[in-house]
Formats: sequence, structure tokens, C-alpha cells
Amino acid sequence: MEIPKNMSTGIYKRTPEMYKTRKGRPPWNKGKKDIYSEETKKLWSKQRKGRKHTEEEKLKIGKALKGGNSGSFSKERFKNKENHPRWRGGISFEPYSLDWTQTLKRSIRERDKYTCQLCSKQQENRAFDVHHIDYDKKNCDPENLILLCHSCHTKTNTKRNYWINYFKK
Ligand SMILES: [Zn+2]
Repeated sequence: MEIPKNMSTGIYKRTPEMYKTRKGRPPWNKGKKDIYSEETKKLWSKQRKGRKHTEEEKLKIGKALKGGNSGSFSKERFKNKENHPRWRGGISFEPYSLDWTQTLKRSIRERDKYTCQLCSKQQENRAFDVHHIDYDKKNCDPENLILLCHSCHTKTNTKRNYWINYFKK
């Protein structure tokens, strides 16, 4: 199939048929294949070789994947979420469970009348945090959720047992 070329730019012009199918379009890398010199390519393959895992490393990775207790992939180690590297003390916005939705947060804010349940401050510009009383992000029972302003929520990062007892009353 003859591809019409725009005479001034040399760019291939697409025919209406070509919009319907990829057939007949010049490949995206047409004319780009050899923009890198042999020298550059050699350098790349050298770098790749240098990045290969050593036999020792391979052994380590294999062990970890099998769930050895020293492996960072071990699930056992993260059963207690406080050991989890991403656990940031209850102020993370990561969805830990599907129930933990914006809708739920909104309903808690409404229930607690947009007021911090600790210092009675009213929510202004930034929405207040919904705190998990038992620090279990998966426990999205409204009984376990309470609205806190940002500074009060930060306080709950320390003395956890104290706050659990405090809010459960
Ligand atoms: Zn507060």
C-alpha cells in the first residue's frame, strides 16, 4: 500500500483507512533504530552484566521467598502491624480494608458533628482525621472510629494503651 507523504514535512499522512487499523502505519521506531552507537550499546550490556546478582545473593533471595524467618518477604514478621515498615502510627491514609472508604469517613465526621472528640475543636478548612480506637485499620466498626483534629490525632501516636482505654469509655 502506498503511503502518501506530506511533501513539506516529510511526515506520513494517515489515510482514513489507517485510522481504523494499525495496518499500513509506519512503525513507531521507523528510522530510530540506529540512533545509538555500537559503543553505547556495548556499554549498556556491560552495565547490565555488572548488575547481576551474585550466587550468594541469589541464595539469600531464594531463602526469603520460601518464607525463611530471616527473609523480609516473610509474612509472619508483619503479622503484628506495628512491625510493618509502612505502619505510620494510625495516621496513614492507605486503605487497609475495602470498608475503609471516603464514605465511611464522611459519615463519622457527620456523626461526630465535625468536632474533635478530644479537645472539642471545630473542623475548619482541612477535614479532621478519623481515628481507629483500637489502632486496627481493618476494624471499621463505627464504634471503633472517632473524629480527631490533627494535633489530637498526632498525640495518639504515643501512649497507645492509654488512648485505647480513654476512648473505649
Ligand atoms: Zn483535638
